[in-house]
Amino acid sequence: MALAFFTAWLSRRQERCWLSWIIANLVMVMSMVCFMLLPADRFSIALALANSLLVLGLGFRWRAARQFGGRAAPLRTVFLPALLTLSLYPVPSLVDHGLRFLLVNGTFAAWSIAITYEFLRDRGDRLPSRYGLIAAYGMLAVAFTVRAGQGIVFGAPIAGALPDDIMLLIGVFGGLFHTVGSGAFALSIAYERGARVLREAALRDPLTGLYNRRAFERRLQQHMAADEPFAVVFLDVDRFKAVNDRYGHAAGDAALCACAETMLRTLRPSDFVARIGGEEFAAILPDLSSQDAYDVVERVRGAVEAQEIVSHGSRFSVTLSGGMTHSTHRLDDIAKLMRAADAGLYRAKQAGRNRIELAA
Ligand code: GH3
Ligand code: MG
Ligand code: MG
Repeated sequence: MALAFFTAWLSRRQERCWLSWIIANLVMVMSMVCFMLLPADRFSIALALANSLLVLGLGFRWRAARQFGGRAAPLRTVFLPALLTLSLYPVPSLVDHGLRFLLVNGTFAAWSIAITYEFLRDRGDRLPSRYGLIAAYGMLAVAFTVRAGQGIVFGAPIAGALPDDIMLLIGVFGGLFHTVGSGAFALSIAYERGARVLREAALRDPLTGLYNRRAFERRLQQHMAADEPFAVVFLDVDRFKAVNDRYGHAAGDAALCACAETMLRTLRPSDFVARIGGEEFAAILPDLSSQDAYDVVERVRGAVEAQEIVSHGSRFSVTLSGGMTHSTHRLDDIAKLMRAADAGLYRAKQAGRNRIELAA
């Protein structure tokens, strides 16, 4: 798993969580080696190291989970529980009462719960692999909690090390499933998230943050396939070339962003706005009559006309011309629909600009 995370890190070096995943797994390998070296008497440095390293490894996994969620994870929080675990071993009185067994397994359980929580709290993104991670760490949390409970129930008889019983067998199998599951899902969730970011970026206009032409056409096809009313409007900034010429290209960009913000603010959340060209915007307004949609678009036009754009020491305003078309039934020719809205836009420009024209 450390090697798999290393190869992932090679192509995504800006994501710090990979280093934590790598360290966590290497530390856990060292812990497993210490467990294998446990001598018969079981009260050894190997046992102290094995458990402390396991606590440290879980701490680094918590750090990785936090980093993956974009949260801070101080190293002292990672190291402190491991050092406290190590400090339990030179204290015989704790050992006698099985308290150490309880504390160590309780620490494992606490880390597992903390890691599960880190994956649980961001479940709003609905990435499928997240549920695999929650299951893998939730399972670990249950296993360690049961272990700690065993320490309370049986006390002194299991004070030394893990009792070689059915619980150990279940624990080992659980550990195996956990290792494979947590590793595989950690890799796949990172790729799921990366793919989502790229998919989203491919549908966005980088200047205004609005959807782009590709997203607009995709959404329009969906509305055309449904049997519900919707309006499509093309909005074009009037004499925008003159704005660039007079105030500069940066001011032109600021005007485009201001128009985008005003459109988003004026339209409903259920409306769809895109920047489909240089100074051309398009919107889809579902579930409105032709007259109501026209009134909404007219309100957008008025709001843009009223807004003052301040950029690089200049103050100015812009106006929009728009062509709107309305549909109440299923359509299959997207080009025809867009030609209709375009015809309305052309008429609005011909008629003197700063107006919305309805096209059949
Ligand atoms: P009309 O009223 O007929 O629409 O006139 P117009 O000047 O708006 O139309 P035209 O199509 O001649 O010019 C559009 C201008 O928009 C030309 C181009 O430089 C400018 N433009 C296109 N994209 C951008 C952009 O991203 N930023 C800026 N600042 N200007 C842009
Ligand atoms: Mg234009
Ligand atoms: Mg224009």
